[in-house]
Amino acid sequence: MKKRKNLIIITTILFLVVVVIIGFRNQGTSEVTSTKAAGTDTEEQTGSGAAATEHGEEKSDLDRSVDEMWTAKCEHDILHYTCDECRYELGAVKLSPTVIAENGKSGLINTTPVGTQPFSRVLPLTGEVQVNDTKTVHVSSPLPGIVRRTMVNIGQKVSADDVLFEIDSPEVAEAKADYLKKMAVLQLARKTAEREANLFAKKISAEVEMQEAKTRQAEAEIELANTRTRLTRSGLSSKEIEMLGNSAANTVTGVIAVRASQNGTVLEGHVNSGEFVESGKELFVLSDLSEVWVWANLKESDALTLNPSGSKIPAEVSAQGTGGKKYQGTLDVISGMMHEQTRTVRARITISNSEGLLRPGMFVNVKLLLPGGENVVTVPKVAVLADEGRTFVFVHKEGDYWIRRPVTLGETFGDQVIIRNGLTSGQKIIADGSFLLKSDVLRKKMGAGCAD
Ligand SMILES: [Zn+2]
Repeated sequence: MKKRKNLIIITTILFLVVVVIIGFRNQGTSEVTSTKAAGTDTEEQTGSGAAATEHGEEKSDLDRSVDEMWTAKCEHDILHYTCDECRYELGAVKLSPTVIAENGKSGLINTTPVGTQPFSRVLPLTGEVQVNDTKTVHVSSPLPGIVRRTMVNIGQKVSADDVLFEIDSPEVAEAKADYLKKMAVLQLARKTAEREANLFAKKISAEVEMQEAKTRQAEAEIELANTRTRLTRSGLSSKEIEMLGNSAANTVTGVIAVRASQNGTVLEGHVNSGEFVESGKELFVLSDLSEVWVWANLKESDALTLNPSGSKIPAEVSAQGTGGKKYQGTLDVISGMMHEQTRTVRARITISNSEGLLRPGMFVNVKLLLPGGENVVTVPKVAVLADEGRTFVFVHKEGDYWIRRPVTLGETFGDQVIIRNGLTSGQKIIADGSFLLKSDVLRKKMGAGCAD
């Protein structure tokens, strides 16, 4: 068995050497005289199975028709594609169903049907990353006061409810003290109302006194509620207000914590500890960068042809410094205004940026896939392989057999590439994992490489 294998390897190498020599001698001409380059001592080559050797020069399987190859016989005088030893010469592979991911079953190799999508052209643009305004907050102090501590730095990620800074405000101190006072007043009013109700029940005092006590209690309740509202407006949480009720009046300070209202990254900070700030002055800018906007400039003529409200226009964004990563998004807004000098219109693309690699201010390249054209054949980019300048895809032939077929590529878009030639819609191809099959059909070449 081993001897036979060695023999095959030696004949293969011999064959290659002869092919190279002959190819060299006949530079460029296809009329190569017949030669018995791949002669084996077993059997004569028969029929069309000799396609690879008949003309003395190896014809790539990519240039042969599948029908012809499927009826050819190999040097072992069996159908070439069924021969486990020679099949690779046809660019064909036999795949056990166990390696194919299908119907929810995982596997090394994924298949996909060849699809089509409407396509007119790709419009290249440049753009700039900006924050998504709806996910950006400008944090200010609710009251004037002195900043006691800042807890965050620029670039830091924060979660909703994290403390951004603490401010010491005389107004807060006053409001807290007022709250404690109003609480004491209410407690007293409650006791009085209770006692008056008892006395009235025992017919000791008059009804009017009981009514008066009840009114005073109601008033105290309203006043406490008012100071509570004032504290809430100052930025105290209900929990903090509740805890305030348990503290002694002499421990009350005017310090309040200002918290993040949402998750995000601190983009700007305009305050230091010890600084006095007015209320309403912007101290921090916080933006959730997991989704960003890219603003691109459309030429006047292009803007006229686009109607984002009508159909969704897919967009792809790429930036230097993000490792070649392509971001998919959708054009969702075209500005109603034109820039007077540049005669351009701003277009907005919303992009998911979960890794946070796109940063506001970054310049990016944008591709818009303009709709409205014909349906073109598309396949996932991972399905397409290349060897010596030729591109090919593994197509399902029948049963467990797959065969590589040449394809002519068009524009790429996202993870898809347009196939100008070589495939038709509905054919089944290998998508993810196709590279695993490449080495198998290029075995001969690799074998020759090892022999060097
Ligand atoms: Zn064979």
